[in-house]
Amino acid sequence: FNVPKAINEPVKSYAPGTKEREQVLATFKELYNTTVDVPNYIGAEEIRTGNTKTINPPFDHKKVVGTYHEANKEHIEKAIAAALAARQKWADMAWEHRASIFLKAADLLAGPYRAKINAATMIGQAKTVHQAEIDSACEFIDFLRFNAEYMQQIYAEQPVSSEGIWNRLEHRPLEGFIYAITPFNFTAIAGNLPAAPALMGNVVVWKPSASQTYSANVIMEVFKLAGLPAGVINMVHGDPVMITDTVLASPDFAGIHYTGSTHVFNDIWAKIGQNVHRYKTYPRIVGETGGKDFVVAHPSAIPAAVATGLTRGAFEYQGQKCSAASRAYIAKSIWPAVKEHLVNDIKSFKIGSPEDPSNFISAVIHEASFDKLAKYIDAAKAAPDAEIIAGGTYDKSKGWFIDPTVIVTTNPQYDTLSTELFGPVLTIFVYEDDQWLETLKLVDETSPYALTGAVFSQDRYAIEEAAKALENAAGNFYINDKPTGAVVGQQPFGGARSSGTNDKAGSILNLLRWVSPRTIKETL
Ligand code: GLU
Repeated sequence: FNVPKAINEPVKSYAPGTKEREQVLATFKELYNTTVDVPNYIGAEEIRTGNTKTINPPFDHKKVVGTYHEANKEHIEKAIAAALAARQKWADMAWEHRASIFLKAADLLAGPYRAKINAATMIGQAKTVHQAEIDSACEFIDFLRFNAEYMQQIYAEQPVSSEGIWNRLEHRPLEGFIYAITPFNFTAIAGNLPAAPALMGNVVVWKPSASQTYSANVIMEVFKLAGLPAGVINMVHGDPVMITDTVLASPDFAGIHYTGSTHVFNDIWAKIGQNVHRYKTYPRIVGETGGKDFVVAHPSAIPAAVATGLTRGAFEYQGQKCSAASRAYIAKSIWPAVKEHLVNDIKSFKIGSPEDPSNFISAVIHEASFDKLAKYIDAAKAAPDAEIIAGGTYDKSKGWFIDPTVIVTTNPQYDTLSTELFGPVLTIFVYEDDQWLETLKLVDETSPYALTGAVFSQDRYAIEEAAKALENAAGNFYINDKPTGAVVGQQPFGGARSSGTNDKAGSILNLLRWVSPRTIKETL
């Protein structure tokens, strides 16, 4: 066993004058001035149904950069059949050969495809170049490389044998196919959710978000170029309910790898329950869902560090990370200093098209998201128990632009302290210094989610208290750092409660979900 040792892909700077900056901006321009026609990839076929939707950059929504084709029920059935037809050969393939395909995909993304996957993520999902780089290049590459290493560890794990008895474990793929549903906000997640089960020998029907079809198409291009055989990953677009119902009606449905909203995951879980008698095997249910991620700052915290944690945690990629800091609890004695840093930082942010790398943020993903955020901002303006201290403005004339907004409320039950908004809106509650322990309880009880959270403190006992009181409030807990930016292999990612099944993306735990071990005892 000697899969190349995985190390995290270094993040490039894109500073003025660098080669990578020149390349990514040239690729951005080139893509922006052409259109792409994204098919469904079913077996060896690229299926263009003629039932098209346009792809519009969120920061320039009248511009058309492409179309994608929606599949109907027959196409989904065909995708399931194509996956099942590919299954045996793929499952029988030596694991090193499966690994080498995904390792080659990683090398393509690290090298010749880096500019393209980043530019596609900038255009289709409105990421700045820095946010695209940490996602569609580095995190995606890391998933592919680290997963190959975890796969090797899984196959190496064997039970004890003794003289005359040889015990073995075979890590078989699941019996059937896997359904991957992926979100718009991370190209890396879109790629990893089908790739991780496929690496372990499974076949996949993949439905990317309707708002991520542009970079999803580049992912398929890379997988194919790396040598992925037809039918192993089948990418389909269309009505999500129809696709899910068709997939879940199949007796060969063997598992779901999901990232998206909590309510859709709940619906899917219920439907799986209704269909359970049909399935050959109990399906694996792996999901990462919503979040209402907290920052709690003790009186001993360094105000500038808290403010930086908040601005980066709440506003990078327009707050559209499941891990984004969206509610904060700040001790009264440090609040004036935190507020000053926060407001000044936000004033310095530039907002606009990702084509200009000096813009710190860009537009939110689509009109529905814009409208929802505008509604909550307007409600805060009118609320007697809330005040907007930064932002509060928005403009949809060219793109879906929401200015980074900070709401300060005197009401610990204020709506946006518990409702997930998924945008650049941070809600803050200022607590009395002597209410530290009560505040920790409040943080724990205010939201149904438990994805990420952060404590800022210079007092080790206070850190200890927060870690204990918030033990179940976050799957990823940060001490003196922002709650975003988990790195594959370093901070396995995921949460429990209403945030998902906590099967930790970027760790061996996730890959173990995609195998069904067989124990063999042989008497010699
Ligand atoms: N892993 C990402 C982070 O730590 C968030 C992933 C997500 O938004 O689903 O920021």
